[in-house]
Amino acid sequence: MKRSISLDRAQAADKVFDVVIIGGGASGLGAAVDAAARGHSVALFEQADFAKGTSSRSTKLVHGGVRYLQQGNVSLVLEALRERGRLTQNAPHLVHSQSFVIPNYSWWEGPFYGIGMKVYDQLAGKLGLSPSRHLSKKETVELIPTVEQNKLVGGVVYHDGQFDDSRLAVNLAQTAEELGAAMLNYCRCVGLVKENDVVSGVQIHDIENDTKFTVRAKSVINATGVFVDDLRKMDEPQAKGIIAVSQGIHIVLPKSFLPGNAAIMIPKTADGRVLFAVPWHDHVIVGTTDTPLDSHSLEPRALEEERDFVLTHACKYLTKDPKPEDVLSIFAGLRPLVKAGDGSDTAALSRDHSIIVSGSGLITLTGGKWTTYRKMAEDVIEQAETLGGLEHKRCQTEDMQIHGWTRAAASQANLASYGSDALRIQDLIKEQPELGEKVHAQLPYQQAEVVWHAREEMARTVEDVLARRTRALLLNARASIEAAPAVAKILAKELSRDATWEAEQIKAYTELAEGYIFPID
Ligand SMILES: Cc1cc2nc3c(=O)[nH]c(=O)nc-3n(C[C@H](O)[C@H](O)[C@H](O)COP(=O)(O)OP(=O)(O)OC[C@H]3O[C@@H](n4cnc5c(N)ncnc54)[C@H](O)[C@@H]3O)c2cc1C
Repeated sequence: MKRSISLDRAQAADKVFDVVIIGGGASGLGAAVDAAARGHSVALFEQADFAKGTSSRSTKLVHGGVRYLQQGNVSLVLEALRERGRLTQNAPHLVHSQSFVIPNYSWWEGPFYGIGMKVYDQLAGKLGLSPSRHLSKKETVELIPTVEQNKLVGGVVYHDGQFDDSRLAVNLAQTAEELGAAMLNYCRCVGLVKENDVVSGVQIHDIENDTKFTVRAKSVINATGVFVDDLRKMDEPQAKGIIAVSQGIHIVLPKSFLPGNAAIMIPKTADGRVLFAVPWHDHVIVGTTDTPLDSHSLEPRALEEERDFVLTHACKYLTKDPKPEDVLSIFAGLRPLVKAGDGSDTAALSRDHSIIVSGSGLITLTGGKWTTYRKMAEDVIEQAETLGGLEHKRCQTEDMQIHGWTRAAASQANLASYGSDALRIQDLIKEQPELGEKVHAQLPYQQAEVVWHAREEMARTVEDVLARRTRALLLNARASIEAAPAVAKILAKELSRDATWEAEQIKAYTELAEGYIFPID
């Protein structure tokens, strides 16, 4: 996937795209793949990097949402479980089955959650993972050796999917690009073009080259996450905001805090929240929160009360209490929830997706979750076909393989997320053995991966490599800062940049990554 090729496609003279998409997160990337797979011409513009927003900051679960079952939203759970099954088939290199243990500290929790999880299994039907079952206290401790044993009576184990969110985003961008779409990062939509009051294109600022150009389109999709209201106001200055922003944070701990393969799921903490502690890339992710916010940004930061909540509750359910200095990284993400009432209680707002069409024909896609991105895309492209007067074509993505698809296990753990591309990265090392060196002693990543990111995954900055092509920023923020000079050097060579660019990149990345270090008083 080369940026120059996509730029040429987007700027082709007299081109009118069938579908133009603004926003390169799960929603926009899914829509690009769906439209391109149907045979429509597509261009997607992302103001930063693919998955820079919420789509790289999730809990990394491909799940039906046990919580929504508790809320009685069976249709949402059913749809998500169906999509969980499809994604497991379509991207087996990135999605795997993960066991979750609900530890029970009261006699009634065993039957209560046991029955709930059986319903969950039933809803998944043919696409189900392994069935849930009750655990004795002994079995619970065998699966989670570090679970708090005081007052523990037993547990329930169930299965859901786990994935790497930003790696899936990159693979979706590659899939769409291979189907002929123009997929551009660092291109911001700065205006809408209208003919007879109908949206007929977008104005784009190519931030990397500092140039502006106009792209004409039969349909325009606003998939900008928590920014959708900004685009809607660009379209209709009087438009009322539809988004309530809810922040969720996670902390990342060394694997020793949760040494087995199973995750912990606490359906209801003392203050009624859901808490997960999940093994991920040989580390443990603990979260999350649901904090209503009045503002939104591309780099949200955890609030003090959120940090306290997650750390205190991690201590409550783990025998070994994590301290601030144990936290390797802390990251925050913003849920774009569609408002109901005054939007003050975001935990109660729908996690379902919404498609809203403005008077001028701008199609806004928002809400939903990573797990359901494919179904969201299918629904929004049906709308785009109708509004744009496009030929109606059948959706192709239900069983379409995503770039990197393979069922073969990778011979090197650090290359597993690349799927079938792992072999090509190994070829780079065969050609140039020094690329087998790691970028940092405490990180699993090799220099050849950075070369690959620049050549084939449209990485343009040190942050693109350390935050989203690899997950160094989330796994160990301090080590990632130390790795920045090595990464900048390789990128500068690959992208023909000078020493000034290299120094600027290291400085910018360091400033960003310092925000992922848990404050120690
Ligand atoms: C804490 C948390 C945990 C979650 N955990 C899970 C989970 O485990 N499983 C799950 O299925 N879902 C989960 N979700 C939900 C899921 O992450 C989101 O639903 C999904 O990522 C939203 O994707 P999006 O594309 O709509 O938004 P985003 O990913 O935010 O993408 C929008 C993009 O639009 C771009 N943009 C904005 N304005 C412009 C412009 N003018 N021009 C060009 N580009 C622009 C932004 O830069 C951004 O990259 C979680 C969410 C949160 C917050």
